[in-house]
Amino acid sequence: MLKRVYVAADPVDAGFVRGLLESSGVSTLIKGDMLWGGRGELPVTDDTAPTLWVSSNDYARARALIEEIKRPVEHPQWKCPGCGEVNDGAFHQCWQCGTVCA
Ligand SMILES: [Zn+2]
Repeated sequence: MLKRVYVAADPVDAGFVRGLLESSGVSTLIKGDMLWGGRGELPVTDDTAPTLWVSSNDYARARALIEEIKRPVEHPQWKCPGCGEVNDGAFHQCWQCGTVCA
């Protein structure tokens, strides 16, 4: 049984996510991208956007893979275990004492 795992912003996005999943061994089916050229002024909704479908057996893994790449890049601050200084997450080494963030 197929389950819809992802609603793409456009066919490029759909192809990108499909490539990611297939490179991880998850077979995917894209539905809706054929409608793209003819959809005119239709708003992008779950019905008109390209959607990615996977076998229900692969669903959980596919979701995890997609969430991995779609997660916004965050740089949480971290507190240095060596000196207690709070460092910006963009840095992996304490500016104060040089301790490397694990
Ligand atoms: Zn430190």
